[in-house]
Amino acid sequence: MDNSYHIIFEEKFVQHQDFGQRNGLHSTWSLNTLNDFKFKFGGKLQNGLNRLISFDDNFGRKISINNVTFAINFEDFFNAQINLQNIFYQHLDNSIIKPLTKINIVNTYSNYPLKETEIKLALTPKEFLNQNWEGNSNRIGGNPIWVQKSENLYCPKCNHKMSFIFQLDSGLPDLNPNNNYEIMFGNDGVCYAFWCLKDKISGYLWQST
Ligand SMILES: [Zn+2]
Repeated sequence: MDNSYHIIFEEKFVQHQDFGQRNGLHSTWSLNTLNDFKFKFGGKLQNGLNRLISFDDNFGRKISINNVTFAINFEDFFNAQINLQNIFYQHLDNSIIKPLTKINIVNTYSNYPLKETEIKLALTPKEFLNQNWEGNSNRIGGNPIWVQKSENLYCPKCNHKMSFIFQLDSGLPDLNPNNNYEIMFGNDGVCYAFWCLKDKISGYLWQST
């Protein structure tokens, strides 16, 4: 994806001053939004899947992520990483999302969805294209902000490098009462989502300190 965007949440959705360990008052939380985009974010889907983002018909046509819903099972996702596996899903034409990886469940994690909302996008200002850890690191396209060294995901079908699509930060509101209603990717880490255009396969990994 050529452009880099910041995900802009409604003010009441991320209202705390400290967003995880980030500055909740940083300017990247309140960038001017583009009018053309408004996507569904969070919420529960069928078969234990939780929506991350549903891209609409207008967005990302060039790499065909228009009308694609990115969704995962968090318990599988957290276990996958511990097993040193990656997690992949096949997106079938009738919008069915099917896990491609059999995940060995070693640890019990909850699978609460992210709190449902609608998100808007802002173009990432030049000075934040290669952002550090300040502020809002929930982003689409551009250069991922890595917690550890940069990683690639390779499509399990065609073995080509997958495209980076978006990243979500720890601290986003979820429905898990046992963790103060905040999602945690490891120890305050970040979740990265990838896509193979040819095979319509999504893949995910997370990194933390
Ligand atoms: Zn592929």
